[in-house]
Amino acid sequence: MTTETLIPPSKEMRRSNVINVLNKARSMELHAIHQYMNQHYNLDNLDYGDLAAKVKLIAIDEMRHAEMFAERIEELKDQPTCELISPVIKGQSVDDIYPHDMDLETNTIEEYNRFLQICRDNNDNVSANLFEKIVDEEQIHLNYFENVDDHLKELRDSFLAKIAGTPSESDTPHGFVDKYGGTE
Ligand code: FE
Ligand code: FE
Repeated sequence: MTTETLIPPSKEMRRSNVINVLNKARSMELHAIHQYMNQHYNLDNLDYGDLAAKVKLIAIDEMRHAEMFAERIEELKDQPTCELISPVIKGQSVDDIYPHDMDLETNTIEEYNRFLQICRDNNDNVSANLFEKIVDEEQIHLNYFENVDDHLKELRDSFLAKIAGTPSESDTPHGFVDKYGGTE
């Protein structure tokens, strides 16, 4: 008679599982930063100042996220990646941007919830808590993109006419969540 013994993953294996998802998340953030910056310049050129200013602040949030993941990876004594998870799409129209960004944030939320669970399963609650904090901010981004998308679908031209010529300067270096929190 044979008895199977379940060998628990080694400490090294658990650490590497966590670093793996932290780096995957960092790579997703680096992509989001570049994608949103491109949209920011694009919307600014189209003279939709308020839309440009807000997507710029969201790019700044993603920069904070990329740094937070990197700091945790450093803490675990590994190298943060500099690779973007996928290429940036340039020159999107105002009608393409918001459905695209809703998909991006929805996918991020789904992935981060999965990564959070992987961190818990590998006994790393510090990394799990980091995902928990960041996923809340991604939800705020998603809410905002959905809101603009609704306006564009329901009121397109009159909504854009109100936005045209609005200022594109943003007065906070701290990003969208810091300025608007969960209220928009
Ligand atoms: Fe993010
Ligand atoms: Fe986001």
